[in-house]
Amino acid sequence: MPRAHFVVATALATAALVATAQAQTPPPFATTKVDGTENVYVFGYGGHQAMFIVTPQGVIATNPIGLRRPAAKTYIEEIQKITKAPIKYVIYSHSHFDHIAGGQPFKDLGAMFVAHKNAKARIETLKPADVVVLDQVVDAKRTINLSAARRSNCSTSARIAMDWERLIPGHPGPGGRQIGTKDDARAVLAYLQDLSAAVKKATDEGKCYADAERDLKIRELGELRPVPAHERRALLRFP
Ligand SMILES: [Zn+2]
Repeated sequence: MPRAHFVVATALATAALVATAQAQTPPPFATTKVDGTENVYVFGYGGHQAMFIVTPQGVIATNPIGLRRPAAKTYIEEIQKITKAPIKYVIYSHSHFDHIAGGQPFKDLGAMFVAHKNAKARIETLKPADVVVLDQVVDAKRTINLSAARRSNCSTSARIAMDWERLIPGHPGPGGRQIGTKDDARAVLAYLQDLSAAVKKATDEGKCYADAERDLKIRELGELRPVPAHERRALLRFP
């Protein structure tokens, strides 16, 4: 079995791609095998996507992407069209509810839920309804031995430094693109650093943080537009 070699991206890594993706009307769901692999798939539902890895010993799935919609049921049906092996793990890539809500159908099948300790802390603070609680937490790195899968909930710069080849973001990118590269991650990092620097400059000049953030504008196709709320929220967690 070839080694699966991916990271599950967080919303932060794709923040700049989301607006374009949401402007499209993608089909309700689709499952595609990742080129160059025998056993790695992307399950897309609406403007979200998750990845899963199939081995004869079991399946490792990521994010149920089932916030206020029946995506997890469809996700399981799609997996079961490919394999009858049990779904052993569900890994949350990060703590955002649009990615992690709705996992109960996986739990009902006996899956073990895993996430980074930072995600666990966030989930325990907010106690969201319809988010399956975690069975296991991980710190910087862990290998699950059905096949090799890595996930991270660390900063974008730390993620870029890690050893990986392809990134499957939590939302498809422009044109429905499912897979990104380190250059994509670097571009998002540079974008967030620019936004962060602009907020810092404004607060240094006496603006309060909330106003500085709200008044952020970016130039796109020659026009200034406000920075979307989800990208501003990403900034809050961005050093
Ligand atoms: Zn998201």
